[in-house]
Parts: sequence; C-alpha cells; structure tokens
Amino acid sequence: MPTASSVLDALHIGNGHAPTLPDSLSPDRLRELAKVATYNERTQERASLVVKTPFTDETVASLPAGSPSDVKEAFRRARIAQKVWATRPYRERARIFKRYHDLILERNKEALDLIQLESGKTRYDAFLEVADVALVARYYAYHGAAALAKSHPLGFVPLLTSVEINHAPVGVVGIIAPWNYPLTMAITDAIPALLAGNAVVVKPAEQTPFTALLAAELLFEAGLPRDLLHMIPGDGPTLGPTLIANADYVHFTGSTEVGKLIAQQTSQRLIGCSLELGGKNPFIVLEDADLDKAVGGAMKDCFGSAGQLCVSAERLYVHASLFDDFVERFKFKIEALKIGPGFGWDIDMGSLASDEQLEKVTKHVKDAKSKGATVVVGGHPLPHLGPYFYAPTVLTGVTPQMTLFAEETFGPVVSIYPFNQDDEAVELANSTTYGLNAGVWSASTSRAQAVARRLECGTVNVNECYVASWGSTAAPMGGRKESGLGRRHGPEGILKYTEAQTIATQHLLPIGPIGGMAVEAFAGTILTGLKILRRLPGLR
Ligand code: ADP
Repeated sequence: MPTASSVLDALHIGNGHAPTLPDSLSPDRLRELAKVATYNERTQERASLVVKTPFTDETVASLPAGSPSDVKEAFRRARIAQKVWATRPYRERARIFKRYHDLILERNKEALDLIQLESGKTRYDAFLEVADVALVARYYAYHGAAALAKSHPLGFVPLLTSVEINHAPVGVVGIIAPWNYPLTMAITDAIPALLAGNAVVVKPAEQTPFTALLAAELLFEAGLPRDLLHMIPGDGPTLGPTLIANADYVHFTGSTEVGKLIAQQTSQRLIGCSLELGGKNPFIVLEDADLDKAVGGAMKDCFGSAGQLCVSAERLYVHASLFDDFVERFKFKIEALKIGPGFGWDIDMGSLASDEQLEKVTKHVKDAKSKGATVVVGGHPLPHLGPYFYAPTVLTGVTPQMTLFAEETFGPVVSIYPFNQDDEAVELANSTTYGLNAGVWSASTSRAQAVARRLECGTVNVNECYVASWGSTAAPMGGRKESGLGRRHGPEGILKYTEAQTIATQHLLPIGPIGGMAVEAFAGTILTGLKILRRLPGLR
C-alpha cells in the first residue's frame, strides 16, 4: 500500500530548475508544508496542481491534487476527532488560539513571503492578512465564549417552565476559500468554527495551497489536534460537491456565480451556508469632505491587492463641486505609485494574480473605451514589470452600456461619477445588484453616518477605507443582495457554526387542566394570565 510519502513522490519543486524563492523559503520547506495536506494514501491516480508565482509566471511546484476520496477521508477522520473536541471546555480550546495569535505574529516573515509568492501582492497587503489572522484569533479566543454562553430566558409559565438555550457545534464544517487573500481566507473562517467545537475541512484555492498549508501547520504547532483541521489542495468543481455532500455547514468566499451553485447544493441537503461574494462597492465623497483625505482614502480603497478584493471600491461618486479637483489629485497620486514585483516594503501596488484576471480586467477596460469612456490614467497592462501587471486605471464617462458599469472587475480599475445631492449619491450607490461594502467621506461624521445608514451594504466605512470595518472583528461583516448570505466576524461569525438547542423543563404543575378542570376554564386561565403578563415588566 502506498504511504503518505509515496503520495508526495509526485511533488516537484520548480519546473526542472529551482524556482526563485524568497529568503525564508526553500524547496525543502515547501516539501515540508506539502506534508500538512490531507491525502488518502489509497488513492493511486491523481492530477497535479501547478502552483506558479504571478510575479514571473515561474512554476513554484507541482503538488499532488486532492481527490474526492481525500475529501471523504478527511471528513471521516474529522468526525472522530470532533466528538472529543466538542467535550473540551471553551477556555481549553481558546488557549490554542491565543498561542496561534502569537505564533503567526512571530513567524510573519515566512507567511509574508509565501503570500506574496503565491498571490503577487505587495508586502503591506500581505501584512494586512497576517494582522487579520491575529485579530480574528484574539477576538474569538477572548470573546467567543460569551456569544456561545448558555442563556435562560423566561419560559412559557413563569417560575414553572424553566428554559435553557445551548449552542451545540454543527459537527464538521466545510470551507471553500479564494486566492485573493490566501492566508486570511484559508483560516479566519475556520477559527470560530473550531472554537465552537467543530472540526473543519478546507479546500483552499488552486493557486495558493502553500499559504493555506502554512496557516494549518502553525495551528497544529499551537496545539490543535491534527485531525480537527484538514487542508485539501485541489480543483473547486472536482472537490466541491463531495465536500458539500459530507459537511454539516459550508462557508464559501468567492464569486457570486459559484456562490449560487454552493447555495443550491447546500439547500438540497438542508444544511446551512454562509456566502461572501462579489461587490461593486461605492465610495461617496460628500461636498464638505476634506479632499486630500478622501483622495488618500480612494488610493487605499481602490488599489489594495491591485483591486482584487471583494470589499474594494470600483465606483467613486464625487460631489460635482469637487469633481475636477478630485480627479486631478487622484491622477497625480496614481502616477506617483511604485508598481512592480518584489518582496520589499517599498512597493505600492503588485501584480494581478493570474492570466484570467489580466484577461478580465483588459476586456472590461477595452469594452468601456470602445463605448466612449475616457481614460484619465492607466488603461493598459504593464508587461515590462511582469506578465500580469496592469496599470491603476481611472475612467470617467462610464455608462450603463459598458460591462464594468455594473459588473465587478476585480482589478485596479475605477469609474468616477459626479453627483449633486446626498440623496442622489445614495440612490446611485444602491443601484446595483450587489451590497457588500461602501465608503462615505465628509467633514461631518453625523452627515456621513446618516448617508451610511441608507446604503444597502453589509459594511460602510466613514472617512476610512475597508480596513476600518474589516479590522473591527467584533462587528459582523458580509453582503446584502447578491453579495452574499450570513456574516463573518462578531457573535454572528461564531453562532452560525452552531445549532441552537432549547431545553424547556416543566416544574410542579403540568401545562393543562388539572384536578378535573374543564378545558374551557383552563383556556380562560391562560387568557387572563396572558393579559396580566403583558403588564408585568419583569415577566413580559
Ligand atoms: P474566482 O472567480 O475569484 O476564482 P471562484 O468563485 O471561482 O472565484 O473560486 C473561489 C473558490 O471556489 C476556489 O477555491 C475555487 O476552487 C472554488 N470553486 C470554483 N468552482 C467551484 C465549484 N463548482 N464548486 C465548489 N467550489 C468551486
């Protein structure tokens, strides 16, 4: 019978020659990380997963691809381990995640290198991922227990019916993660699931398996029992159905198109799911906004991770009185950006993640240009920097006939539109099928907050970009309309991985006529009781 190491005999580092790796990584280190993946040793035939770095398109490794039998094996092992894990007190589970918080910060250099290698993003964008993992681990380690705490609301008959509400883990959670935030998306949704007493099986994105494997390796090092978390690198359509067929709950982050498929499959099994999907996020600059601050905010909001971020802004609505100034200052700042590959901290914008991304961004901009949009800056690839680099691009004169008017581009491409009234800005911002994130800029925070409350978005940032809402891990984040279902972060982000269970215990007297009492008389007693209870503050 083949052994685990024989599965990994199919692992090749580089493409016949050693790949260019950052300092902290070596071919041996990648081999070590590959061992963290869950493979069913009995599966002989498997495809390979070619991992390339977007900086140069060089092959980093060909990794054995996970198969449906690996997914089944992972669930089998996870189910056994979860039974024991669910009996452990929360504080014992939390200890592991406190250690994890410290470990991820200590080992940030390797994480940053790996994230950058697999995604092509800048060091700062990669750093935000490391910080996010620490924030989520800290929040749930210290506050998750309160969300899951047993509660005792009033029962049916005051004093006679006592009620207890428990939040039991669902069992084994399946997570399907995207490539754009390879560290945070692979592990931060697993953290509350595990802390709630579940086991987790993750399918990371095809392009970024090593970062996900590092995230898991550190969690095992922090003390998580091995079989509670499984990483299975592989193809989405091949592994997705088996993962959903075996899971008790599914969390998905990715495109709206695939999110709808996941929702269909989970609904067939009547299991819960949460979906964090696309966005076409608005960014509103009210007439009294500080222009420099708003332009600085737009730089962060539009070009973080080269715009490959579900919460980044793609539609800027700027008050007509500020419009020309805003466009000019925005263009000036964009032209000063340092763009390129590399592992240093001095680069402002990195690469797109793949050929498909470059193709989509190029197509959207070409279509807009051909239909009359004006390119203020950018509007073309930057092949001298690397195969998938694209210039930060600002368009004006964008109309509904253009694909990127309403469709998510997922790249460094934004359209700017003028408006005259706050009401008009709200209407324009709400005029898409999406509802994920928004930004509002104003010198008056109360005016901006009033606009924010009217936006049909799961999160809104006032005088900051998405980092403010995303980094506030105690507060829920997620999408309305076609941007998703359910929330991550906050109490909602852990309660979703549990089933509420009510235990109602009746004391002394049963609920019903006693001692030969007529049913009608009993109904009358209830009637009187209801009338009285409505008027007794402590018993409503
Ligand atoms: P993107 O378009 O940004 O790549 P996707 O929604 O296609 O986003 O991918 C996000 C995640 O969903 C990836 O891990 C991918 O492998 C997975 N995926 C893609 N198609 C399916 C599918 N049919 N079933 C399950 N998972 C899928």
